[in-house]
Amino acid sequence: RLDKLIIEAFLAHEDEMLRAAQAIEAGIGSGQLALIPEQPDEADDDGTTATEGRLLARWAISRERNPGLRKRKIARVRELGLPLQCTVCAFDFSSAYGALGDGYIEVHHTLPLHISGPRETRLSDLALLCANCHRMCHRSRHGTTWRTPDELKVEMEMPARHPFQ
Ligand SMILES: [Zn+2]
Ligand SMILES: [Zn+2]
Repeated sequence: RLDKLIIEAFLAHEDEMLRAAQAIEAGIGSGQLALIPEQPDEADDDGTTATEGRLLARWAISRERNPGLRKRKIARVRELGLPLQCTVCAFDFSSAYGALGDGYIEVHHTLPLHISGPRETRLSDLALLCANCHRMCHRSRHGTTWRTPDELKVEMEMPARHPFQ
């Protein structure tokens, strides 16, 4: 049954699936994927593997934890005189936590690996998010492991359709 589902998914999103396969292949070839420990966000709530794939999800989450990239993005935002706040909900760590929260924000790739391929990250590909919105952008749900901040905003404006789920 699972084989059939995978083949159907492949046929329905052939280009995306090929790019995902190429990204995984490149990650394995470069040895990067083998070095990345399992990430807490990569499995679905019910333990199933999402479309983007555990390996890709693992890689995506780990590349966002690159401290150099985060630092450069934050420096760029400050250079532009923009506030260091969540692009979805406007949460500001320094307003909420005072000096402790000063300079803290998480970065999220607005292009997933299966779309961008394993190319070098540009600062413009990174969005600033608070920890809650970031977790929601990566939550594995209904076969997807990734959403953009804009898509998350749309989700937040939608009324709950399944209150008992
Ligand atoms: Zn937020
Ligand atoms: Zn992210």
